[in-house]
Amino acid sequence: MSLRLVFVGPPGAGKGTQAKVICERYKIPQISTGDMLRAGKKAGTLPKELIDTMAAGGLVPDQAVIDLIAKRIDEEDAKNGFLLDGFPRTVPQAEALNKLLADRGSKLDTVLALNVAASLLIERAVLRRTDKRTGQIYHLKYNPPPPDVNPADLEHRADDHEEVVRNRVETYEKMTADLLPFYKKVGLLQELDGVGKVEEVTGRVLGALESIKK
Ligand code: ADP
Ligand code: ADP
Repeated sequence: MSLRLVFVGPPGAGKGTQAKVICERYKIPQISTGDMLRAGKKAGTLPKELIDTMAAGGLVPDQAVIDLIAKRIDEEDAKNGFLLDGFPRTVPQAEALNKLLADRGSKLDTVLALNVAASLLIERAVLRRTDKRTGQIYHLKYNPPPPDVNPADLEHRADDHEEVVRNRVETYEKMTADLLPFYKKVGLLQELDGVGKVEEVTGRVLGALESIKK
C-alpha cells in the first residue's frame, strides 16, 4: 500500500520518534527538511544566511525547502510514498507540494498533527540527544541512552537550547495558525494527542493511519 503523509507538530513533539515506527511499518522513507538542511550545513553547502536563520529558530525561505523536496520525492525510494517531517510549514509550501504531487499524478493521503502543550516541549527538546552514528533519538530523562553508547557519539543540536526552543515553538504557533486550517478545509487533517508514553502515542498514530479511506 502506498502512503503519502505529512507529519506536523511543534519542535520536540515526538515526530522523529514516531516517524521511525511509521516508516518501518509502511516501508516508506522519512523526509525531514530539518535533517536535509543540517546535512547541507555539515557539508558546507548551506548559505550563511540560512545557517543563521536556523540558529535563531526562524524559518528558512520557502523556495529553499521546496527545491529540496522537489528533488527528493523523485528519488526511487519515494516512488511508493513518503513521510514528510517538518515540511510544509507554510501555506505557500503546502500549495507548492500540492502542485508537485499533482504534476506526478498523486496526492497526499493524510496530514497528522501531533499536539503537545508548549510547557512540555522545552524539556523534551532541551534533553534530546541523538546518536550520530545510528540516528537513534534519546531523551536524557524519558528514554536514556543505554550504557554501551559512547557519550561522545551523542549529539546535542545547536538549536536545542531553551531560548531557541522557545523561539521555535513561537514560530510553530504562528505557522500552524494558517497551515492547519488549510488542511482542515480539504478534510486531510487528523489531530492527535502527543502526550503520554511513546508506545501510547504510537498506538494513536497507527490507529489514525489505519482509518484512512483510500
Ligand atoms: P520532534 O522530531 O518532533 O522534534 P523527537 O521525536 O526528536 O521530536 O522527540 C523530542 C524528544 O522527546 C526526544 O528526546 C525524544 O526521545 C523525546 N520523546 C519523544 N516522544 C516522547 C514521549 N511520548 N514522551 C516523552 N518523551 C518523548
Ligand atoms: P523541529 O525540531 O523544530 O521540528 P526541524 O529539524 O524540522 O526542527 O527544523 C530545524 C530548522 O530548520 C527549523 O527551525 C528551520 O529553521 C529550518 N526548517 C526546517 N524545515 C523547514 C521548512 N519546511 N520551512 C522553513 N524552515 C525549515
